[in-house]
Amino acid sequence: MKYLQSGGNAMEEPIIVLELEYNQWLDLCTEKFGLQRYRTDQICQWIYQKKVFNIADMTNLSKELREDLVYKLLILPPMLVRQEISKDGTRKFLWQLRDGERIESVLLSHGNHMTACLSSQVGCPLACSFCATGQGGFVRDLSAGEIVGQFLAMEKIAGMDINNIVFMGMGEPFLNQEALFKSIRIFNDPKMRGLGARHMTISTSGIVPGIQALIKLQMPVKLSVSLHATNDELRNKLMPVNRQYPLGALVDALREYQTATGDRITIEYVMIDKVNDLVEQAYELATLLNGLSVYVNLIPYNPVEGRFKRSSAGRIKAFSAVLSEMNIEFEIRREKGSDINAACGQLRRRDGKDAKN
Ligand code: SAH
Ligand code: SF4
Repeated sequence: MKYLQSGGNAMEEPIIVLELEYNQWLDLCTEKFGLQRYRTDQICQWIYQKKVFNIADMTNLSKELREDLVYKLLILPPMLVRQEISKDGTRKFLWQLRDGERIESVLLSHGNHMTACLSSQVGCPLACSFCATGQGGFVRDLSAGEIVGQFLAMEKIAGMDINNIVFMGMGEPFLNQEALFKSIRIFNDPKMRGLGARHMTISTSGIVPGIQALIKLQMPVKLSVSLHATNDELRNKLMPVNRQYPLGALVDALREYQTATGDRITIEYVMIDKVNDLVEQAYELATLLNGLSVYVNLIPYNPVEGRFKRSSAGRIKAFSAVLSEMNIEFEIRREKGSDINAACGQLRRRDGKDAKN
């Protein structure tokens, strides 16, 4: 990406600070700008703690240094296009990126706990039939800085620290693994945002090599899997990715993950009327998950367009009764933000698929 310079005497393009991990940042500041280490940490504090995104406002740097750096460094998180606030306090943000593409993030609050739901791609190539993002097609991956920027911009707008991250917005995080892992390291670094790895969860549609890479990452990031179907025939229809990584391979990868990390896995299961909410499918689900330590989230489907309907409360209850009987821990997730289309991809879609204009 090329960015125009607005002036100054430097001939080089400005550096996008949010793209850098701490070591890269430190090398840049010491080797290129000749800054002392405490200065590099001060700038980090301005960005990651105080959410000040303009070098000119970093008042403990000398005026000369600010004037010099202002042309060399760009912080710029994504630009807010629109914010919607639900009756239950869920906030949904539509952002514009520097190339004009638009993405969404959601901020959920549970008492004092705030969780940011971040996008990892513009659109998604996996085309799940029930998902607004999937139906809208794929545009491009996000950079690490664009992932980090969503979070910092929400903290700034909300005026408070957000304690949890779920990579559960638009896109499939494991199809953008490099930027995803880099953003996790930036969030986690004590010199940067300092958010514990246990406070981050990756939600995947079941990309087996991604799960294996997460094991190798050796950071205690949590894993959530969007299952939504209990046999390959149905899952192939709902989630085409299942043709590449069928249930058997996926469950094997989950076992591997569990053996390596000892961590419980969250299973997301969107309840779609008379498609995946049959009592016999609840037994099938319990059998499939047998031997794994899991927590199942039953999520009432958020209708996208005519094709599917949400399961009734009665059907969800009957389904969950089987899970209880089979000793599978679960929760019927209370819907958040349904009045503002908080299901992933719905705000962007309503705005026009690639609403650049
Ligand atoms: N691609 C990743 C993460 C983004 S999708 C994944 O599939 O896990 C985040 C979650 O929202 C997934 O569990 C997805 O199945 C769910 N979802 C998508 N569309 C939905 C809808 N209309 N109603 C309810 N949940 C939906
Ligand atoms: Fe992509 Fe997840 Fe939507 Fe499927 S559910 S299309 S993987 S964002």
